[in-house]
Amino acid sequence: MNITYTSTRGHGGEVTASMAILKGLADDGGLFVPVTMPKLDVTVDQLKNMTYQETAYEVMKLFLTDFTEDELKDCIRKAYDEKFDTKEIAPIREAGGAYYLELYHGATIAFKDMALSILPHLMITAARKNHVTNDIIILTATSGDTGKAAMAGFADVPGTKIAVFYPKDGVSPVQERQMVTQKGDNTFVVGIEGNFDDAQAGVKKMFSDKELEKELDAHGFQFSSANSINIGRLVPQIVYYVYAYTRLVKDGRIKDGDKINITVPTGNFGNILAAFYAKQIGLPVNKLICASNENKVLYDFFATGTYDRNRPFVVTSSPSMDILISSNLERLIYRLTDNDPQATEKLMQSLASGGQYTITDAMRAKLTDFYGNFATEEETLATIRDLYQETGYVIDTHTAVAAAVYRKYKAAHAGDPAVTVIASTASPYKFSRSVMKAIDPELEEKTVDEFALVDALSKASGTPEPKAVSELRTAPVRHKTTCAVPDMEKTIKTWLGI
Ligand SMILES: *Cc1c(COP(=O)(O)O)cnc(C)c1O
Repeated sequence: MNITYTSTRGHGGEVTASMAILKGLADDGGLFVPVTMPKLDVTVDQLKNMTYQETAYEVMKLFLTDFTEDELKDCIRKAYDEKFDTKEIAPIREAGGAYYLELYHGATIAFKDMALSILPHLMITAARKNHVTNDIIILTATSGDTGKAAMAGFADVPGTKIAVFYPKDGVSPVQERQMVTQKGDNTFVVGIEGNFDDAQAGVKKMFSDKELEKELDAHGFQFSSANSINIGRLVPQIVYYVYAYTRLVKDGRIKDGDKINITVPTGNFGNILAAFYAKQIGLPVNKLICASNENKVLYDFFATGTYDRNRPFVVTSSPSMDILISSNLERLIYRLTDNDPQATEKLMQSLASGGQYTITDAMRAKLTDFYGNFATEEETLATIRDLYQETGYVIDTHTAVAAAVYRKYKAAHAGDPAVTVIASTASPYKFSRSVMKAIDPELEEKTVDEFALVDALSKASGTPEPKAVSELRTAPVRHKTTCAVPDMEKTIKTWLGI
């Protein structure tokens, strides 16, 4: 079956998968969605004996139908290699009555590596297929993890350049160090005087600026996006949910056909949307548990049917989820409208102009796949501490938001027999201070040096410090640019020399 993509806002017709990957965002500001949803065409029995790479092919071939088998397998082989510190790529660990799907074994120790190690290969292949001769400029807004993972993927890739905007005061010290020490002559890092939503809005504005597009083209450049709005990121994220399910079957934890719950610590709604798509292609999923931190705009949406970003932005210990506009929710909204682009566009216009929208009762009735809740800062740290004390297993702050919300779900649904997978989205080493604050608050308080906390974490968890962290101890700072939000475009032009 040939799968084409269309904008959630309905303008511009249908495009191929490779074109959708190249463009990132549709011309009308909407997001590309598959016109029809494919179905898995191999059985769990077959999948359970496949490697991660083989599973990736079986899932991705369903969505990226204009890629040849050789092209896709080549991208997969280059992406999921020794950059990951385990052959399993995404191992599962049982602790405290749930299965943690560890998605942080890649180069930058956050789950963004799962998709961003393959996106550059998909994009170059897509450019070749579509006879693109311009250099591709990847513009990325990051809440902390996407930027580093995207740069790790695109650094020194011929025919590409990558610029990353991050909120200067809104990321963890390790995240910031990871970014400003990034190597690669084609990389550019900018700290902005604003939050993630400001960064995302600024990037989106540049994407939809037709004048700017012409100017870039005249100089041999074109923009694309490595943000989770790109279907080239969404599709690789579906893979690990399928993989997790088949491992649970293989290990005898569930029987083929049993439903599982999937709990996802959510920010931009990309990771949980991938889980939703996994369900749509036939994976037996019961509830998709959407976990928010104190920026609980999604929880309120599930509870009331109103999405309202008009509220104070809270800086939490799970910065990659400090987001008030969850871009990928637009793809779910589109499904809830029964794929009605006019209705979707209207709601998104209302979000852009007034910062809120309310869905109809008929749409709300279709939200039964989801359960939403949130965890406070206190609950998040208590969850890290309890799990550590009970099992010795250490999770990061984002994963802890999910674990805390899963606790709430379990308390409210005592009769649900489904096994639960929790997406573990970052290594605790990426957030050493917050994690140590949960495990050993006295030590954390008197320790100033970030790396002393890394040492303490290694001792407490009995795990070796990841390479991604040791590298930072000596890496020189290579990026010092900062800018105000209105100057983002100017900063990019200066960098490109136009
Ligand atoms: C990006 C990120 C999230 C949120 O994922 P979304 O796809 O944006 O919902 C959660 N945890 C970590 C560690 C992340 O980097």
